[in-house]
Amino acid sequence: MSDKPSILLVEDEAGLVMTIRDRLEEERYIVEVAEDGAKGYKEASTGNYDLIILDLMLPEKGGLDICRDLRQNGIETPILMLTAKGQVIDKVLGLKLGADDYMQKPFEMMELLARVEVQLRKKKRAQEKSDIGEYSFGDVQLNFKKMLVTKAGDEVTLSAKEFQLLRFLVENEGGILTRDQLLNEVWGYDALPSTRTVDVHIAWLRQKLEEDSRYPRYILTVHGFGYKFVG
Ligand code: CA
Repeated sequence: MSDKPSILLVEDEAGLVMTIRDRLEEERYIVEVAEDGAKGYKEASTGNYDLIILDLMLPEKGGLDICRDLRQNGIETPILMLTAKGQVIDKVLGLKLGADDYMQKPFEMMELLARVEVQLRKKKRAQEKSDIGEYSFGDVQLNFKKMLVTKAGDEVTLSAKEFQLLRFLVENEGGILTRDQLLNEVWGYDALPSTRTVDVHIAWLRQKLEEDSRYPRYILTVHGFGYKFVG
């Protein structure tokens, strides 16, 4: 296997296929395209990809069916779903059926790249960090197994949500995370609190963990997108 990440793009709009493929190949990803759902499912079932970008409305087999069937067959490849504007039900259903993230068309290519990067890092880093069980940045020490956080040796009290948020940020180190992603991953799509909830929890984490919460060094704001953790 190559060490370049390989991405399966399942999409039937020729123009969009061309745009996405070109852009991903510029980033040196290996891109395979399936232009209908049946081919997409067959290809995805090999488990040979690092990420699947999956359109919802596809000829032969729909994106939701593909997503569900892959998960039922134990294929854990991250799935980034592409939904048309207004397909809110499909988005929620897609996440319930095992998709990892979704993007609504039309989207900026830069945003797609950011999401792709997050998904590719997520698996790798989650594996690495949970293997070790511990992580540190600055004078902060995290113990994932004991859910223990210390700063300069003193225990820091975090709520369960703060800990989950911190953990998710750390697992996705370097990747840009949108408020919607953080809501989905930490709060779950059923709860549907506002994105303001995310901002409030980020502010609390900064107060507890940063040297100076007004000038954070680790939990950074990415204007126009969301947040990013840099260890
Ligand atoms: Ca389509």
